[in-house]
Amino acid sequence: MVKRDSDMGEEKVRQAVSDSADALPALAACRDYAPENVRRALETVIEASGGLDWVKSGMRIGIKLNLCAAKKPEEAATTHPVLAAELTRMLRARGAEVVLGDSPGGPFVAPLMHRLYDTTGLGLCREAGGELNEDFGYSEVEFPEGKTLRRFAYVDWLRSCDAVINFSKLKSHGMMGMTAAVKNLYGVIPGTYKSEYHFRHEDPMRFADMLVDLNEYVKPRLCLCDAVEIMEGNGPTMGTPRPFGLVLACRDPYRLDRLCAALLGIREREIPYLEAAKQRGLLKAEEPEIGAMAAPYALKDFRRSGATASWFARSEDDRGLRKLMKQGMYVIFRSRPAVSRECIGCGKCARDCPASAIRIRDGRAMIERKKCIRCFCCQEFCPTGAMKVQRSFVAKLTGDKETKTRRHRLLAKVRRRRLSRDPEKRPQQVSAQAFSSSAETSAGKRLPGSTSAPLSRAMRWGASSPMPLVPEVAKRTIFLPLKS
Ligand code: SF4
Ligand code: SF4
Repeated sequence: MVKRDSDMGEEKVRQAVSDSADALPALAACRDYAPENVRRALETVIEASGGLDWVKSGMRIGIKLNLCAAKKPEEAATTHPVLAAELTRMLRARGAEVVLGDSPGGPFVAPLMHRLYDTTGLGLCREAGGELNEDFGYSEVEFPEGKTLRRFAYVDWLRSCDAVINFSKLKSHGMMGMTAAVKNLYGVIPGTYKSEYHFRHEDPMRFADMLVDLNEYVKPRLCLCDAVEIMEGNGPTMGTPRPFGLVLACRDPYRLDRLCAALLGIREREIPYLEAAKQRGLLKAEEPEIGAMAAPYALKDFRRSGATASWFARSEDDRGLRKLMKQGMYVIFRSRPAVSRECIGCGKCARDCPASAIRIRDGRAMIERKKCIRCFCCQEFCPTGAMKVQRSFVAKLTGDKETKTRRHRLLAKVRRRRLSRDPEKRPQQVSAQAFSSSAETSAGKRLPGSTSAPLSRAMRWGASSPMPLVPEVAKRTIFLPLKS
């Protein structure tokens, strides 16, 4: 049942962080999830973000985690439980009550959430003295200052808190390019309503404006991001974990995400909600100091989930020809969901699709293109990773950053290089040229085994370079990028 607006702690939750505009993000190295390393990293970034002196004894603090799906911690889809547990300990040591939770897509009900808590390892937070949220109610709240959301459904468990800490996970994301602090607050909307909100905000820029509204409504007291292990590729739930070794913090979610974008090597104009925050004056046009902070750690080969249309994020100032051109480019470059062979016909995507654009036929999901609003909910919640983000034909031809990186790497492989006379150095040379084994090289291909020892023997026979076979290069540089 939907409760009406009441004074149930709402003002407390929305307390403004008046000085957040001055807060630079902070980062700290954390090579793994060992509790002592996590604790040290958390203390460093929290201290650099103003500390925890605002936490008073008896305060009830809600930690909004990223629990997007029932995934194990090692799958890197959810905020790691060791980080959440260490933060809980720090807050409990100051006498605060701590409640942790999230509302992923789908029914927001006890049995599903209990399963999610178990799978994501959140029992550790209970041991640390925190509560896992058991209040699955929601209320309609008013937000007259909102640009696209002036009235919306909001989870009760956060309304009853005195302050909110936003603890996100850094991952690739189909619709928004990446997800970190700003996108994490979509989880303050009950899962049952998420499809409807996707449908109402089908345009990526409108969706981005909605995310900014949510951040402005909740005003988290502190934003933290788990980037010890990030997710790349088919994110935000079925991508590939990648060790990254950082914990991040900031009082301002937009600036934290600006740092995240710089770390992943994604241009800000490719992330619609950063554009939306800039258009509303919530984020400065440029902050070179954040770029400099990210530079030593920035990735050059982060694999994104494929969407490129957000390059053409629109602004309200766009008029006439400029507006038309941006719209045209958006249509040409926008990605779409595509079902791959791994589909088992479970029907989860069809149930979650806000546009009812998916049918299961012959044990496989089929998408009705005309109905699809490209929200990528199906890709986010497909349990097998069968639903992918497919780049448009034009985007593939022109080569977005990921394709270019892949091509660049492969072309580097065909460069002729003499191998060392020292047989011990040869295996390193093979891997330094980005071959996974000598079988990938022209010399190795002719040999029975695929280790570097037979390759070394081949060098004595006169082969001068580990050059890959031409068809293999052609297949990888031309056909794979077009097919993916
Ligand atoms: S959720 Fe994934 S596996 Fe299930 S029907 Fe849809 S695409 Fe296939
Ligand atoms: S098919 Fe997928 S991307 Fe298209 S509207 Fe449905 S859930 Fe969204």
